[in-house]
Amino acid sequence: MMSPPPAPLALTLDSAALRHNWQWLAGQSYGAACGAAVKADGYGLGAVEVVQHLRAAGCRDFFVATWAEALALHPHLGDAGLSVLHGVRAEDMTIATSLGARPVLNTPDQIARWREAGGGPCDIMIDTGMHRLGLDPRTLSSDLLDGLEIDTVMSHLACADEEHPLNNLQRTIFADIASKVDAKRVSLANSAGILLGRDFAFDLTRPGLALYGGIPRAEAEGNIRQVVRPRAQILQRRTVRSGEFVGYGATYVADREREVAVLNIGYADGYFRGFSGKGHAQADDGSILPIMGRVSMDLIAIDVTGRPSLAEGDWLEIAFELSQCASLSGLSQYELLTSLGSRFDRHWI
Ligand SMILES: *Cc1c(COP(=O)(O)O)cnc(C)c1O
Repeated sequence: MMSPPPAPLALTLDSAALRHNWQWLAGQSYGAACGAAVKADGYGLGAVEVVQHLRAAGCRDFFVATWAEALALHPHLGDAGLSVLHGVRAEDMTIATSLGARPVLNTPDQIARWREAGGGPCDIMIDTGMHRLGLDPRTLSSDLLDGLEIDTVMSHLACADEEHPLNNLQRTIFADIASKVDAKRVSLANSAGILLGRDFAFDLTRPGLALYGGIPRAEAEGNIRQVVRPRAQILQRRTVRSGEFVGYGATYVADREREVAVLNIGYADGYFRGFSGKGHAQADDGSILPIMGRVSMDLIAIDVTGRPSLAEGDWLEIAFELSQCASLSGLSQYELLTSLGSRFDRHWI
């Protein structure tokens, strides 16, 4: 069997930064346990490695969306708990009753299904105004939850990344309902919710984005470290003369003689067209090497004028500070992370 050569593009994933971010968020959780949302393959980084690094840091509560995600993580959990946010469909029951992860029950049907199957520990999600997943408080009669072994009662904030009246409203509604539910723990805050302060921490927080270097609110600036650094290899170096163009649509026209490095990364890797003419690579000394013209499916062109040492086969880091890249590209920090494609080699350091 032949194995593929090293990929011409790679993610450097900083485990010390990941652990630092979790520790900082745990420190902002006012004594509540701090968990970790690792759905969507750990927001694109690789959920297995994320779980291993965060367990070593002390994290004991993980959250995924689906049972396929739960199955993949199961061998790596040790004594840590795992909650499956989308609950249980009929098709999930075989695996859900054998795995030991907790479904987060969202509907009366899911509750009935879990109870009839003999159940076991579960979580429940209360909708406090977002109207996405979760039990409608108007349907919450005492017998609805009868006989459930509820570990965590949770809800989810719709606007925690903004100053918004819904934050306190959802908190108040949730605190009232949670006080009437017989559960071991109460949980409300995602990354942004943690930064709303003590009243939002309850017993367990559930950060995702900020673990991976995202800045959900200004309070995180300077405290959250970049975890993901994409790099790509130079496939070709060339000179364009004044008036010549680069890339699709001929949107970049050289104002004078320019040096071009063509890098092996494009929108099929999650480096989207919104970075056309806006993103940049950075040289080892930190200086900026702007993108010339449009991002292609598998390639970008970078201005390396005055950098004669950069040659075919060399690697360049692509700037990927999430909050800056979100404003540049028009994408959310979440989309930037979760779109990082399968063609990257992922190197944990
Ligand atoms: C994804 C998710 C989180 C984590 O949210 P971030 O904004 O990434 O911190 C927490 N709770 C629930 C229910 C989620 O779906």
